[in-house]
Amino acid sequence: MRYGIISDIHSNKQALDAVLEQLNDVDRVICLGDIVGYGPEPNECVEIVKGLDGITIVGNHDLASLGEKDVEFFNPHAKEAILWTATRLNEESKRYLRNLPFKARFENAIVVHGSLKDFTDEYILSVYDASESFELLEDEILLIGHTHTPCYFQKSDRVYGERLRNGDIIKIDGEKKIINVGSVGQPRDGDNRATFALFDTEKREIKIKRIPYDISETQRLMRECALPDFLIRRLEMGI
Ligand code: ZN
Repeated sequence: MRYGIISDIHSNKQALDAVLEQLNDVDRVICLGDIVGYGPEPNECVEIVKGLDGITIVGNHDLASLGEKDVEFFNPHAKEAILWTATRLNEESKRYLRNLPFKARFENAIVVHGSLKDFTDEYILSVYDASESFELLEDEILLIGHTHTPCYFQKSDRVYGERLRNGDIIKIDGEKKIINVGSVGQPRDGDNRATFALFDTEKREIKIKRIPYDISETQRLMRECALPDFLIRRLEMGI
């Protein structure tokens, strides 16, 4: 089986379209949450993900946009975009987001947005954070998003971590792994290309891919919606 793994679309339909074009031959698409927030086309992105009929879990921005999480914990730009998204979401989108699970399993993997300690909110940024989730990890692989930075952690005799770049391959070899698949709609590792992963169960590998998309069109739509200027500029910088 071949799975496309995507996360943190953040209402960026141009990026989502570009990624899905690359995934048209996979057996299933797995989405790790934050379909909405930040970007200009929340309903369009929900509609597309819903139509994929894969596995999708919920992220912190999805919950906040539904009013199910206190927006005061978000930075001012994120908060402004969440409040804007909340006014834009139609009933159908809300119903879909409200019914998404916090975690899901497929093959030898479990998927959550943040971490196993806090499914939607904790950022796994360090070896220490990863160690805590490894303690709770019963499956071979934990797939996550949330930080918008592709990376992986492995546990053998000790835990170590590494950033992942375009084309990097992680071999599935029986050692427990935490893999962050990066962000489709708002990459933050200095590379402004949309990020996703391909999980090939026959080859026993997960590959990170980057793909350019029409950033200026997303920015144009964001300006039309009067979304915060910093959120518009960060897309081209990949931060
Ligand atoms: Zn996110």
